[in-house]
Amino acid sequence: MSWRNKFNDHDGIGVCDTCQTSKPLHLNASNIRECHECWLTRFVCMDCGINTRIIDEYYTLKDTIWYRANPRGDGMLCIGCLECRLGRSITQDDFRLEVPINMMEFNERFPKSNRLINRLSTRKTWTIVI
Ligand SMILES: [Zn+2]
Ligand SMILES: [Zn+2]
Repeated sequence: MSWRNKFNDHDGIGVCDTCQTSKPLHLNASNIRECHECWLTRFVCMDCGINTRIIDEYYTLKDTIWYRANPRGDGMLCIGCLECRLGRSITQDDFRLEVPINMMEFNERFPKSNRLINRLSTRKTWTIVI
């Protein structure tokens, strides 16, 4: 499947804010007018360089968890690198479950990798010490 089929929210041809060339533009959530190539670079994992949008690992965590993994705040991490930084596997409780990109109902619009689906459906297990 091509990207144009997956994300067809183009805003017509115009000048890209980032590379300044005339191309079909995406109008993304922050109203930045960017071409497809510049837009895609926003999803590159900071640690391993894989594109999280291409491997379908685009998700939103609770701020406390995200800032623990990434004190700078901005940027993207794939699930593998995120868990490496946190030193543990993430579970359902770490995600902002009220956000559509994390919801299973929106899988068609926001596809999820197998390991992302796995984490989103794993409940936190409590170790009770008596
Ligand atoms: Zn561009
Ligand atoms: Zn990574």
